[in-house]
This record gives sequence, C-alpha cells and structure tokens, in this order.
Amino acid sequence: MKKTHPSIASHTTKMAGKKRIGLVAHDYRKRDLLDWAEYNKDILKEHELYGTGTTGGLIAENLGFPVHRFMSGPLGGDQQLGAAIAKGKLDILIFFWDPLQAQPHDVDVKALLRIAIVYNIPLACSRSSADFLISSELLHEPYERYLVDYGARLKSLSVEE
Ligand code: PGA
Repeated sequence: MKKTHPSIASHTTKMAGKKRIGLVAHDYRKRDLLDWAEYNKDILKEHELYGTGTTGGLIAENLGFPVHRFMSGPLGGDQQLGAAIAKGKLDILIFFWDPLQAQPHDVDVKALLRIAIVYNIPLACSRSSADFLISSELLHEPYERYLVDYGARLKSLSVEE
C-alpha cells in the first residue's frame, strides 16, 4: 500500500510583533504599490521595510522613512528577497507583479513566489489581498508560523510498501 503523504506542519517558527515586510512591484504596478503604501503609511511605519532597488527607493522617497534596499529585481533583488525569506529574515511579502507583461527575470519572480510558499509567509500579490493583510490584527502580534517538514515529505514520496 502506498503511504499517505504527510501534509501537515511539523514545526513552527516565531514571527515577532514588529514585522519585516518585503515590498516589490514591477514597473507598471509601481504606481499602485506606492499609492497603497502611502495610504497605509502609518501602519507601515511601525514595521521594518525591505524592497528591491527601485521599488524600495521610491517607497523611501515617497514615505520619508527608511527602507532596506536590495539590488534591483532583474539584477538579483528578487533572489536576495528569496534568500532573506529562506534565512528567516523576512516575515511578509507584498509583491505586485505584472500580469500583462513578461519580465526578463520571470524565472526569479517564479522562484520568489515559490519560496514564499515553501516558508509559508503571508504573501499578497493584489491590492485587495494587501488590504486584507495589512488590516489583520495578526500584523501587530507575535505569530507562530507553521512550516511543513518537506524533508519527510520528499522521503515519503519514494516509499511504497
Ligand atoms: P525593482 O525590481 O524594484 O528594482 O524595479 C522589481 C522587480 O522587477 O522585481
């Protein structure tokens, strides 16, 4: 009989009350993200912001508070954000990707979205999702995030009895 695949979390990781939030937008969606960030400025101010080069720069300039900037997305910034998620250094990702235009770094975009799911961080890719996320009371509280034990899952995929 084939074993059932484990699908539930095996452990958790703690997110502090003050969140480390990554912000990224493709060029045609930067206006939208800036507008959203401006509207939610007072809430964002309470957290720590990270962004890809251009997006991060625009947000820092428009909101007037610091944003840790990675490289520009197409030059490795998306991968740096992904690495930060994998290392447990980023809690939330707001990623306004462009649904109407292929990007030169599409593979990096896909990798970033994938890693956000692997590490089960809150991820918003549309403005309404970002609204729901930012208005959650969990944004301001410590939170135990479940992490699936993918090592066990990979082993079980090859086991038949
Ligand atoms: P940018 O990168 O903020 O440097 O424009 C965003 C992206 O294209 O991923």
